[in-house]
Amino acid sequence: MKIENIETFLIERPIEESFGWGMGWTDRRQALISKITTDDGIFGWGEGGALPSAHIINEYFSTFLIGQDPRNINKQWHTMFHSLHNGYATGGIGGDAISNIDIALWDIAGKASGKSISEMLGGAVRDKVAVYATGLYYRKDEFPTKLIDEALSYVEAGYKGMKTKVGGLSVPEDVKRVSAIREAIGDDLYLMIDANKAYNAYTAIDLGNRLADQNIHWFEEPVMATDVDAYLQVKAGQPIPVAGGEVFRNRFENRDLLINRALDIVQPDVMLAGGITEFRNTAAMANAMGIQVNPHLWGSPVMISATLSLASTFPPCPYSVEPRPYEQEPVVEFDQTPNPIRNELASFIFEQEGGFVDVPQGPGLGVEIDESVLKSFCIHHTTVK
Ligand code: CA
Repeated sequence: MKIENIETFLIERPIEESFGWGMGWTDRRQALISKITTDDGIFGWGEGGALPSAHIINEYFSTFLIGQDPRNINKQWHTMFHSLHNGYATGGIGGDAISNIDIALWDIAGKASGKSISEMLGGAVRDKVAVYATGLYYRKDEFPTKLIDEALSYVEAGYKGMKTKVGGLSVPEDVKRVSAIREAIGDDLYLMIDANKAYNAYTAIDLGNRLADQNIHWFEEPVMATDVDAYLQVKAGQPIPVAGGEVFRNRFENRDLLINRALDIVQPDVMLAGGITEFRNTAAMANAMGIQVNPHLWGSPVMISATLSLASTFPPCPYSVEPRPYEQEPVVEFDQTPNPIRNELASFIFEQEGGFVDVPQGPGLGVEIDESVLKSFCIHHTTVK
């Protein structure tokens, strides 16, 4: 089997109501989807990056990937990685391009063998994967009614945990906002906060201490993603467990935060972290250090399937007689913000029930993309043969 052609589709949809977080606001959702077709007629879907990553895929990776056997994923991954390494380009958009292609190769290998991604990874250790609701972003005129209504909608839907944003308002205003959510949902549900790197260590510590009595389960990306010392300061200076790592592109970028125990929870993202191949490597590293892996997830059904498949295979951290989500079992981010790409691109959407989602059954990702929807959302398409 040989790779015959590679296509990239940059897709974009506006959303009705814009929303914000610690670093900005958006009025649209975007994704870069790849389709790799083989001479057998089998094709695979990938996701990751935006237009700059499409250029790396189309104008560079295609020159050595076309004609290769897509089932030899390790070889293709290392060829991509080392083709960028000397140029110091394996991070950022280079890492996104590797991730995108890697996911598509796993999809092809699964379809060719009739196996799901979790079966190819050696089998799932759990039938259902725990998820939490990501939402509660900043919106115009939200406080308190719209914000509280949204939080209660997640309780109603059966979620056991939810995450909100901090860092977009002053510390006292964010404390008021987070405390109002906690009061509305009660003490039994998990509540997490995410600053998206908007603080210096001093301000993050101030916020963490002011929220000390709100039972916050983790404080995500309090400071600059790569600043190990600032993470250690935040961990030592306030009581909330610290999470991060969603922007890292490979195990080497994760290494310094992990070996310095700068994180309590690491959150690799399959469409940034180097795809399924490299996510697995990072997850194994973290598990060896007793650091919980709770995947970051914010994209189309392609990456949702890849992430749920991966999360079905991680061992608990650590093993216990009855491993529980949020304690020893991984809990996957489940984006609830408006996203027509998530809801309309595939033939079905992943649904949670009681805070869990079923493991995708394949073959491959088990995601059927509706190509007429893909084309109607597409703002930039390239085919390389
Ligand atoms: Ca985040």
